[in-house]
Amino acid sequence: MSRELTWSHNFTDADAARLCQLASIANDPRYRPYVCLWVTDGVVCNLHFQASEFPDHLRSAHGVVGADKASLMCCWVNCFAEMPKDCLMRHINENHLELRHICPICHEQFTRANTMQNHMSRKHSGN
Ligand SMILES: [Zn+2]
Ligand SMILES: [Zn+2]
Ligand SMILES: [Zn+2]
Repeated sequence: MSRELTWSHNFTDADAARLCQLASIANDPRYRPYVCLWVTDGVVCNLHFQASEFPDHLRSAHGVVGADKASLMCCWVNCFAEMPKDCLMRHINENHLELRHICPICHEQFTRANTMQNHMSRKHSGN
């Protein structure tokens, strides 16, 4: 208990509404997190993000910037195709951003819903 904790004074109805909105988005299957498999220096990024955050993430985390016609390499794992920057976003969307199905119990990731269901019944069936 400290008087230093002044954040509660700034917690408005708008903040509360935003939190409720975030909570409902988390349960919305359309907003399941994508996983970034961009490789930098041999290390896969592995960050989870919402689809709408991805262009910003590529820019700020992976330095995908420059003129639209500048030739860039897609450093997605196992891809490494070269293309103009204005094609890259669409390329990634169409080729790499599959919705992941994430096990709610151990958070293992699967590309297909039925693979995850198999996993659930093999690993987590309590009965
Ligand atoms: Zn990333
Ligand atoms: Zn690619
Ligand atoms: Zn699991």
